[in-house]
Amino acid sequence: MNFNLNFNNIAESYLFAEVADRVAKYTKANPDKKVLKLGIGDVTLPLVPEVIKALHSAVDDMGKAETFKGYGPYEGYSFLRDSIRGYYKKIGVALEDNEIFVSDGAKSDLGNILDIFSENNTVLVPDPVYPVYVDTNLMAGRKVIFADANEGNGFLPMPDYSVNADIIYICSPNNPTGAAYTKEQLKEWVDYANKKNAVILYDAAYECFITDKTLARSIFEIDGAKTCAVEFCSFSKIAGFTGTRCGYTVIPNELKKDGNSANKMWLRRQSTKFNGVPYIVQKGAAAVFSDEGMKQIQQNLAYYKRNAKLIADCMDELGIWYTGGKNSPYIWLKCPDGMKSWEFFDYLLHNAQVVGTPGAGFGKNGEGYFRLTAFGSEEVTKEAVSRIKALLRK
Ligand code: PLP
Repeated sequence: MNFNLNFNNIAESYLFAEVADRVAKYTKANPDKKVLKLGIGDVTLPLVPEVIKALHSAVDDMGKAETFKGYGPYEGYSFLRDSIRGYYKKIGVALEDNEIFVSDGAKSDLGNILDIFSENNTVLVPDPVYPVYVDTNLMAGRKVIFADANEGNGFLPMPDYSVNADIIYICSPNNPTGAAYTKEQLKEWVDYANKKNAVILYDAAYECFITDKTLARSIFEIDGAKTCAVEFCSFSKIAGFTGTRCGYTVIPNELKKDGNSANKMWLRRQSTKFNGVPYIVQKGAAAVFSDEGMKQIQQNLAYYKRNAKLIADCMDELGIWYTGGKNSPYIWLKCPDGMKSWEFFDYLLHNAQVVGTPGAGFGKNGEGYFRLTAFGSEEVTKEAVSRIKALLRK
């Protein structure tokens, strides 16, 4: 046998391990100091009551012969896909029933979708970036090129027609930068992809944080997207499903090349390698779209959005340059006094006992930047903000 040696091309993932290591060392040396963590991208609020009710009731279904479920449809139960279709309809996007595929989360599909694309494709990803896009392609031996995101373009790189890409990743609102494209900017990407015969893999995992009504919540709000884009979304951030696991992928029937349909290929791929998401989980996910479920979820989102505003207001007050915080749970700030990412990490940990994520861990353009998240508790966020103000105002 031979191993897939492309794995040797993937950088060791040390970012969060290194963060944990430095925090552990500091805590050991300073046991009396309370360390506040604003580094994680995981949610902290529990599932809302409507989801819990639906999960319990689905468990009961599994215990009765009349309602027991065995293998379900590969693409997800129609009760959930219909609800997702309704969610899109509310933002003016009409989808066909067969264009929605339920999954166990966006991360799996973002990696698995590559099965339907040739290994010879050139992949364009922004830098800094959610590392999954890069690593999944390197594992398959694809060539990855980067689009520079930086202060000059507000961390929102635009298409460059001199670059020939086949697969383009766009995440908006973005992790790690929190920056969100306008509809006009997305239209430029859609036009570029259609012109170049490329596909946009659009990660909408944070669409639920968009409050600005002029921004698109789905790439399919943009004219021409159905012939060039696939959209990935998740219940993780909207409904706290990071541990429950459910997401969905939208593949338009119009996405075709040389008579091959991306939608048909994906169904073929899923029916070969995937046996669906648990009925119980899908019932819980469907409750997210009920009137009461959506009301409860909006309260949780409002809680995180308030945290984001606290952090963003703090940066405004300190005169620190940042992106995000407004349509995103992430605040991506420029390290003060020209500090490097890890230097600022240590400075904040040692002097304010606040933990964030060094931007350098997301790509070369992340050097000199730092990510704070709104997913902590209100109490921790308030305390962290007041410590950051006290430290950086000096
Ligand atoms: N996409 C982005 C940009 C993310 O930040 C994350 C998780 O943090 C995911 C996808 C993963 O979502 P899921 O939990 O549905 O796998």
